[in-house]
Amino acid sequence: MRDPKEFQFNLPAEARPAAFALAEKIHAAAWDAAPDCTSARPDASANTIRAIVIHATAGSSTEGAVSVMAARRASFHWLVADENEAAHGDFVWASAPERRAAWHVRNNCFHPDVYNGAKRVNDWSLGIEVVNAQSDGDEFSDWQLHATAGIVRYAWAKYPNLAYVVSHARLDPGRRTDPGSSFPWGRFAELVMGD
Ligand SMILES: [Zn+2]
Repeated sequence: MRDPKEFQFNLPAEARPAAFALAEKIHAAAWDAAPDCTSARPDASANTIRAIVIHATAGSSTEGAVSVMAARRASFHWLVADENEAAHGDFVWASAPERRAAWHVRNNCFHPDVYNGAKRVNDWSLGIEVVNAQSDGDEFSDWQLHATAGIVRYAWAKYPNLAYVVSHARLDPGRRTDPGSSFPWGRFAELVMGD
């Protein structure tokens, strides 16, 4: 499956993993910016989380992605570093509190297969940004796939109604292609499902 607009799989409740601690560190600059580029969720309970959205930055660095938050243009809950960065192979960056709605999907976007076509996706989702240029020469690393899958498994264990794993491109096909056609979605789904 290589069309990012098709990237989606759903999490079966009966396979929900046991809770575990995520290997994450707070990114100070992102965390400091987060109050000004995230919103309160209408429902603050853990039950509100229905989806997790996979993005790629179309940039080359964690700092570049954080600068978007610092400029208050967008935000996301986690950043998965690129191969040439120190965090790669070690931990993921937590960039905004999970209890806040990050600004990673436009409010009028939806897909009929994701939470019955509900809009205002940010209110009921979590967002992961994988640092990747989205160009032919920049493959996603095996660690990036494992780390991203690990975040999804962590969230799957934590949020009882989390059911949809979906690309940004599927939710906003007119404007977005991320995480891009080089993201190995089938392999990623296998890692999430524990295969
Ligand atoms: Zn995106």
